[in-house]
Amino acid sequence: MEEHMAAQYNPYDNMLTILEEAGKKLGMPRNDYITLCSPERELIVAVPVVMDDGRTEVFKGYRVQHSSARGPCKGGVRFHLDVCLDEVKALAAWMTWKCAVANIPYGGAKGGICVDPSKLSRNEVMRMTKRYIAQILPIIGPEKDIPGPDVNVDGQVMAWMMDAYSMLHGGYGIPAIVTGKPLEIGGSLGRVESTGRGVVITLLSYLAQVGQKPKGKTAAIQGFGNVGGIGAKLMHKEGIATVAVSDIGGTIYNPKGINVEKAFEYAAKNNKSLKGYSEAGLKTISLEEFWSLPVDILLPAALENQINAGNAKNIQAKVIIEGSNGPTSVEADAILDKKGVAVIPDILANAGGVVVSYFEWVQNLSAFAWDEDDINSKLSKVMTNAFNDVWQVSREKKVPLRMAAYMVALSRVVKAHKVRGLFP
Ligand code: NAD
Repeated sequence: MEEHMAAQYNPYDNMLTILEEAGKKLGMPRNDYITLCSPERELIVAVPVVMDDGRTEVFKGYRVQHSSARGPCKGGVRFHLDVCLDEVKALAAWMTWKCAVANIPYGGAKGGICVDPSKLSRNEVMRMTKRYIAQILPIIGPEKDIPGPDVNVDGQVMAWMMDAYSMLHGGYGIPAIVTGKPLEIGGSLGRVESTGRGVVITLLSYLAQVGQKPKGKTAAIQGFGNVGGIGAKLMHKEGIATVAVSDIGGTIYNPKGINVEKAFEYAAKNNKSLKGYSEAGLKTISLEEFWSLPVDILLPAALENQINAGNAKNIQAKVIIEGSNGPTSVEADAILDKKGVAVIPDILANAGGVVVSYFEWVQNLSAFAWDEDDINSKLSKVMTNAFNDVWQVSREKKVPLRMAAYMVALSRVVKAHKVRGLFP
């Protein structure tokens, strides 16, 4: 898998290319950020699991900590067959930049297991999850590194992680070890909606800056899970119609606007896919047609490297808001910039999830739960400030929003490094 990824597209190299460019634009000597070009720690573990039929299977697990300069490392765990070291490294680094852009006191980390969890029973997933936590135990902790959920990992899996860590520390519950937990064991109100909510807050901030109203605009969304589905519902409340959705089960188009509430309910019951969904005026289209639809807004909310040199030239949307991590390649960015398409980057647009994860951790550490209005208004403040900081750099330095976000992040992380002083 690693060889396969490296031959085609290496997300970590993609991240480094943008980082080097941000350093240059800031006029920063490379020596100031050389430590940030390599993750602080890369741990690869074997995760043996006794399967239901008595066989033992060994899965490959990872935890990468990119930077702890600004605080404990923070990042999700992904269960997917594409998980490999380069992907986890890139995702960990993106977490460093995302937490810095949002200005929350965390560094960046990410983890994962190379597995297709849909092929495992829930009991097998539980045993795999608990053993994974045991394997990465020496490097995690509420003050060291706090895992959260990512692709194919839900609140139940986070509860198993919390339980495994607690059992290995004397049996008393330690909620602050992970975020994205169910409410019953210290999860936060508003966490499930937080990434989609943050995406829409950021989109509205952008539209306000360019003097446009959301009402009457159209959107196409790739992925209709937590980020895409909730993003669609919240956009609908602002008068933005989702006219197309592409997911693992195919691509649907309704020029009059998809009934997103009904579609969301359907996807929630059907493995986060709209395969088989029907409503009046709906038709299926190809993926090629999807990327070239005459919409105002594109919301990629599925996987990495979806907008590339192949499809970027056909994109008609005026703004792309990145719900997923790393959906746009470096080549596509250049094409889109030339065409005048605004790309609101992942490390800004989808930071709402980690912001409310941070709120969850703060609530756990202080043993005090906040109400949902409080959480949403704090989220709105953090996202709006982050957007304004990035927007200002983008205007002042005349750079696209992605470059501006990296410049904001890099200068914050480097400042933290400098003030601490390189050990020893
Ligand atoms: P999810 O599992 O809830 O939904 C994923 C969606 O993507 C599903 O609708 C699925 O059908 C679709 N999908 C999967 N493979 C696809 C493919 N090959 N082509 C088209 N669609 C495909 O996941 P999510 O939590 O919504 O996360 C989506 C993305 O957003 C991921 O990249 C994740 O890392 C990123 N993200 C999520 C959060 C969060 O809090 N959930 C935070 C930040 C970033």
